[in-house]
Order: sequence, then C-alpha cells, then structure tokens
Amino acid sequence: MIQEYQLRVLPQVAANEQSLRHYIAEEYGTDERSLTAVRILKRSIDARQRTIFVNLKVRAYVNEMPEDDEFVHTEYPDVSDAPQVVVVGAGPGGLFAALRLIELGLRPIVLERGKDVHERKKDLARIRQEQRVDPESNYCFGEGGAGAYSDGKLYTRSKKRGSVEKILNVFCQHGASTAILADAHPHIGTDRLPRVIENMRNTILRCGGEVHFQTKMTRLIMEDNKVIGVEAVHLPLGSDASLCEEPFLGPVILATGHSARDVYRYLAEAKVEIEAKGIAVGVRLEHPSQLIDQIQYHSKQGRGKYLPAAEYSFVQQVDGRGVYSFCMCPGGFVIPAATDKEQIVVNGMSPSNRGGQWSNSGMVVEIRPEDISSETRSDSDELTTALKVLHFQEEIERDCWQQGNRRQTAPAQRMADFVNGRLSYDLPRTSYAPGLISSPLHFWLPKGVTKRLQEGFKVFGRQAHGFLTNEAVMIAAETRTSSPVRILRDAETLMHVRVKGLFPCGEGAGYAGGIVSAGIDGERCAECCKDYLEGE
Ligand SMILES: Cc1cc2nc3c(=O)[nH]c(=O)nc-3n(C[C@H](O)[C@H](O)[C@H](O)COP(=O)(O)OP(=O)(O)OC[C@H]3O[C@@H](n4cnc5c(N)ncnc54)[C@H](O)[C@@H]3O)c2cc1C
Repeated sequence: MIQEYQLRVLPQVAANEQSLRHYIAEEYGTDERSLTAVRILKRSIDARQRTIFVNLKVRAYVNEMPEDDEFVHTEYPDVSDAPQVVVVGAGPGGLFAALRLIELGLRPIVLERGKDVHERKKDLARIRQEQRVDPESNYCFGEGGAGAYSDGKLYTRSKKRGSVEKILNVFCQHGASTAILADAHPHIGTDRLPRVIENMRNTILRCGGEVHFQTKMTRLIMEDNKVIGVEAVHLPLGSDASLCEEPFLGPVILATGHSARDVYRYLAEAKVEIEAKGIAVGVRLEHPSQLIDQIQYHSKQGRGKYLPAAEYSFVQQVDGRGVYSFCMCPGGFVIPAATDKEQIVVNGMSPSNRGGQWSNSGMVVEIRPEDISSETRSDSDELTTALKVLHFQEEIERDCWQQGNRRQTAPAQRMADFVNGRLSYDLPRTSYAPGLISSPLHFWLPKGVTKRLQEGFKVFGRQAHGFLTNEAVMIAAETRTSSPVRILRDAETLMHVRVKGLFPCGEGAGYAGGIVSAGIDGERCAECCKDYLEGE
C-alpha cells in the first residue's frame, strides 16, 4: 500500500528517513516495521516563527517496495543521419536545446568558444591565483556556460510547472540528486554541476550529435535574409585562427549568453535587429554565514545541526526603481566573473553542502535603458542606442578595475560605512580569492545606484535586525545580472523578427534569466526549429 502525507515537523525529524518512519508510525498508528520506505516529494522550510518547521509531502510505502525510478526518463534516439541544427553556446540554453533537438529527431552541432567543463577549471584557478582572465575561458565562457561554476540554484519564477519539472528531471537523468525534485528552492552546487554537464555532453555525442570546444562563431552565413549556417574559428590556433574559418551549416540556435559582447556588436553591425534592455547593477554583499543563520533562524545558535545555511530575499522600491537581493549563495564564495582583461565583475557560487563561512548575494538596483543618457560615440546612433546599456555595464566594470589597482583585486566597502558615506579604514576577511581593496564605493558608483542601495539597505536592516552591519562587506561590481540587449524574435515562432532560420535563445537573447529558464527557452527554440525545418 502507498500512502501520501502532508507533514509539518521539526528539522530533526525531517533530517533522515529513519526518524521520518518513526514519526509516521507514531502519528498515524502504522506498524513501523511495515514501512518499507518513505520518499520526500516536496520539502520547504518555514522559518517565519521562532520555532522552525519543515513542511513535507511524503509518500510512505507499507509492505511494498518503492519504484526504482525517482525521476521521469527522456528517450534520446540516434540522430546520426538526421538533418542538422547548429547550436551556438553550450550553456544551459544551448545544452537543453541540443538535447531536445535529439528527442525530436534532429542532429545538434554544438559550438562552444570555451573549453570543456574540466579544462575550464584550470583557467578559473588562474583568475583566482594569478589574476589572469582568459577572454575565451572564464566563469562565463566554457562548457556549461555561466551557470557551470555557480550555486546551481534551480529556483525559477517561471509559472510553467511542466516545463520546469522537465528540466529538473533531465538534470536528474544526468546525475543530479533527486532532492532537486522535492526542494522548494533546489540547487545542485558547484562541486556537482561539472559531472552533470559532462553527462549531458556525452548524451549528445552518444546519439550522433557533435560538440566542438574552443570553436567561436564569428559570423552568420546568410542568403536572402535567411541564416543557413555560421562561420567559426578554432581558438587553439591562436593568431592564425582567422585563416581557419570553418562553416557549420543548418538553421542556428544562438545561445551565446549575456557576456558575449562581440556577438552583440557583430549583430548590430550586421543589422540583425537588437534593442537595449534593462538590467540591474550593484554589488555582492558578503556576511558571515553564521550571522545570516542567526538572523533568519531567530537563534543565537544559528542553523544548528539539522538546518541548511539560511537564505534571504529582499526587495524594495526606492525612487521608482527596484532594489533587491539577487542570486543568493548561502555558505558560498564571491568569485571574479570578468570575461576580459581590464574589467572587474563579481558573482557568487556555492558548493552542494553550502558549508562555507560566508553567505553572499547580489544587491542590485534596476536600471532601465531610459535611465542612461546616450553619449555621442563613433558608432552610428542606432548602434549606440541598442548598445547603450552594454556600454554602461562596461564603464562600471572598467571603473572597478581601475579602482582595484588594475588587477582583479576588487574595490570594497563595509556595509554600514557605505550607508553612512564613510571610507572603510579596514575590511573584514572575505571569500573573494583575488583580494579586496578599500574604496569609497558611495563616492564613485553611479549616483542612482548608490542612493537607492543606501536607502534599500536601511529598509532591509529594519526588516532583519542585524543585517545592516559593518561585519558585512560590499564588493564591486555586480553588473552581469541579465542581458543588456534583446535580440528581437517573433513571440510564436521564436525566430528572429526579420532573419529566417535564426533562433535567438536563452539569457543572451533577453528571454531568460537563470539556469532553468534558459533551459526551458532552449527546449522551446528546439521545438520551433523543428517546425521551421518541416515547413521548409
Ligand atoms: C557565477 C555565476 C553564478 C550563477 N548562479 C546561478 C544560479 O545559481 N542559478 C541560476 O539559475 N543562474 C545562475 N547564474 C546565471 C545563469 O548561469 C545564466 O542565467 C545561464 O547560464 C544562462 O544560460 P544561457 O545558456 O542562456 O547562457 P550562458 O550560460 O551564458 O552560455 C552561453 C555560452 O555561449 C558561449 N559563447 C558565447 N559566444 C560564443 C561564440 N561566439 N561562439 C561559441 N560559443 C559562444 C559561452 O562561452 C557560453 O558557454 C549564474 C551566473 C554566474 C556567472
């Protein structure tokens, strides 16, 4: 017999199957020995009151063995002889597009400018230790895309339940823990993501698809407003790369992410319609994780033995713009996420156990295109308008690099000092490996960002006593919150508004924000691409 229960239990009861079995037996008068297994279907933590509860939906198996599969399998057929589709970018958008193409009987040819997910690690270490950023292999570029070395949060505001579950199930099929199907705020963790991504690549290869690393798309091949393929260079060839441009033919799913500025510039110059899009800009804020646990779990003891590192989420309107926490990484690290040499960009990641000493999140202010005054540049007016938010991002990142002594040493300020407009005479210890340098962020960050952050922090400090503190440090700058550009596409066919055979996809195209939503968009682009090929 199988029984499902909604439970509201203390963290120590939710901690393992044995204690849950015991609890169910007592509560529902079941013989504990007949309970063969208890599976958690949904799990969320209710930390609103002093006593913390865990809400669970569980399935109890009485004198019956549970099914082997805890997730839904997707069949991937052999597509070696099928029509091919070029997928540019191996981030979540590109990878999920490629897998869905296979499901639909099409052959994906994936091009990725960066290295495979393991080789990439060496370049990340070089950024942290030697302060050297490889413009082709970094925290944003390489197999797995921007989300590969992250917290692997899979929480999305997308309301499309079926689509979200499909993405989570595909992750499980490729090695992610099935806990992501149950948790209200699922995450994989940076230590586990690379293996999952590698397994996804192996599925593509096993089914007859291709994956080309260090292969950068340089231009679209067009015939009469129709994309029929791309040209790409092989990057290991260094300066001779341009001599070895190679065409890859087929309709194109363009999933190059929010940091491929060369792609945006190319599209603008090639007159493939794009427009400026709003982003959010601010800092990474880092607290000792113990302090966040104490605040969020209302206890001096912090999280104790049975609770995970605490999360938080803040949002406030200040002077007509949103100020909010973004991409929180409990027990995580602040990382250098620049994609070029003369810039500093920060972001966050955490391991699966979220066991680090610090908790960080982006603290950002909404920026709309109309908030940025267009300057006169050498580019044409149209081009400047489409790229003006991108230029704004670039300027802040360059300012940070200059303030950071022209290295990856990030400018930083204690939180309360920032609110009070004071330079910090020293800085607390940090997880940010390249190191921090004290800097008056309140003085040189854009005024609209500074003022709103100051006001927002005061409100958050009132909402969560102890949050506004000089124990927390602000690290500049968080600028890559989403794409500064939208590549215009038709809402139904997902094809570019004018150029046939081109499917702008994922975060870089301006239609996703986060791993899951990029994955969902990748799947949808693959489906539309199939329709397009059938209609040809
Ligand atoms: C450090 C960090 C932590 C993050 N944490 C989370 C998180 O916990 N949860 C979450 O939901 N989101 C997180 N994000 C955001 C998330 O990673 C992105 O929303 C998501 O990866 C977008 O997917 P995408 O496939 O659209 O683009 P991307 O992941 O950016 O992938 C684009 C890929 O295209 C490649 N590419 C670019 N140009 C070319 C070219 N010309 N030729 C060939 N290849 C090219 C790039 O190398 C890259 O691999 C994080 C981002 C960062 C940087």
